[in-house]
Amino acid sequence: MKCPSCGSGDTHVIDTVREPSGGIRRRRSCKACGRRFSTVERIVETTPLVVKRGGRREAFNREKILEGVRIACAKRPVAAEDIERLVSQIEAHVLAMNASEVPARTIGDMVLQGLRELDEVAYIRYAIVYLNLKDLESVKNEIERLLGER
Ligand SMILES: [Zn+2]
Repeated sequence: MKCPSCGSGDTHVIDTVREPSGGIRRRRSCKACGRRFSTVERIVETTPLVVKRGGRREAFNREKILEGVRIACAKRPVAAEDIERLVSQIEAHVLAMNASEVPARTIGDMVLQGLRELDEVAYIRYAIVYLNLKDLESVKNEIERLLGER
């Protein structure tokens, strides 16, 4: 920890205080110039960055996943709590990976897998967007693949 006055890295900790917020405050003293200052350590929630196709990165956003799943399930007999549960499972899974970056593909695959169990029409809707199915032929192939797995 560098001294804010002289920039020396040679500082020592005078005392350590646990703050009510859970953070830790350390009072330090610079050995070079005698300046006293404090540092605060706190827990930072670590959510990974999502790596999109083409390499663009954005913060993991639970709401965005939720929105996509809701749109896919619109007017389908899927309970709101099932949608919530699916998205919570995906979020928990992503956080448990403990990675600094997660490919958007990984998340998309988890959504697809979950939707397939919830509602096949919602699954197809999501697949059309997510798998970028460009024509009826590829949609038909996906549906046939789905039916074939039954
Ligand atoms: Zn100093």
